[in-house]
Amino acid sequence: MIPYGRHHIDADDIAAVVDILTGKPLTQGPMIEAFEAAVADYVGARYAVAVSSGTAALHLAAMAADVGPGRCLVTSPITFVASANAALYCGGHVAFADVDPRSVNMSPEALGATLLRHPETSAIVPVHFGGLPCDMESIRDLARTSGARVIEDAAHALGARHADGAQVGSCTHSDMTCFSFHPVKAIAAGEGGMITTNDPALYRRLLRIRSHGINKLDDPFQLPEAATEDGQPNPWYYEMQELGYHYRITDIQCALALSQMKKLDAFIARRRTLASVYDAAFAGFSNLRPGQPDGRDRSGLHVYVLRIDFAAIGKSRGQVMRELRARGVGSQVHYIPVTIQPHYRKMGFVASDCPAAMSYYEQALSIPLFFDLTDEQQAEVIAALRDVVG
Ligand SMILES: *Cc1c(COP(=O)(O)O)cnc(C)c1O
Repeated sequence: MIPYGRHHIDADDIAAVVDILTGKPLTQGPMIEAFEAAVADYVGARYAVAVSSGTAALHLAAMAADVGPGRCLVTSPITFVASANAALYCGGHVAFADVDPRSVNMSPEALGATLLRHPETSAIVPVHFGGLPCDMESIRDLARTSGARVIEDAAHALGARHADGAQVGSCTHSDMTCFSFHPVKAIAAGEGGMITTNDPALYRRLLRIRSHGINKLDDPFQLPEAATEDGQPNPWYYEMQELGYHYRITDIQCALALSQMKKLDAFIARRRTLASVYDAAFAGFSNLRPGQPDGRDRSGLHVYVLRIDFAAIGKSRGQVMRELRARGVGSQVHYIPVTIQPHYRKMGFVASDCPAAMSYYEQALSIPLFFDLTDEQQAEVIAALRDVVG
């Protein structure tokens, strides 16, 4: 069975983890800062804060952007639920800006209309769907006019580049960028996430709320009289200055992720090669086309999505997935629009809120794309699609 995605672990990765397990600190040790420095350096950001998951990264970023009661977070309907849930964790509410049908990313036009309806927006969370960076210049301009922060959900896009050549994560068009290191993403930490930023105040706040809201760096004490005795600092003293979380990542995970970083460019190069082979093969198919045909040379290519005209082939998507599976080919749908999840329907969202997202969803199917997919396996995938979809 060829899965739609899979991580790649080599002997160096194993050695890096074994090294931690044989006598190094398991958590709160030096691997965390080393991994943060490696990602900050790679993407070209001043600061990076590693956390326990991409979801934790989004939650902390939303909190740092002051999403809270009465405040709104605007995201894309075509994303993993975590992008929207970040607002709810903060006690805020969510609005969705529909996608552009060609890029499947947040449409700046739709965002403009959503911001007019929601002047209480604190954060805009564009999602670089499938690793293809959003139109960040337009989104940034709209955010400036509305006074909202921009948080890039780059869970799919480590290693991708913006249209102007800047690395995703450099925050040249945003306040913060969030990454995930779940094994199906660009690099694996087991579970893990990161926030990059160039803003020292956001950085300081993120460090605090990652670990219970306890003072970090040289945060001034709020009760200085408790911090000293006879003019001497009290060595045990710390302050919980606001309600934070325990979202720390371990040294075990960071050792693995740091080792994986060395292979990131090779991982992406292979994904790009595989995508170009798919693109060429599917040009000859009639009822199926690549879902995000543009920007292949700068996309992180987290998933390869097809748009299939299921009505034209006379088969349901479920039937196509089962027939592919019977030929040893895994597939998946990215994503069910968040707006139609039961939890969001209960808040009043309906399918017609985001028509472009719905029409994309009706046709979407992701097929295998990962570093270890061999040329032979890829040929099997293409042959299976020719049989099943025609
Ligand atoms: C994976 C993912 C997340 C959440 O990351 P986790 O590390 O699984 O918590 C958020 N947004 C998107 C778009 C994702 O794909």
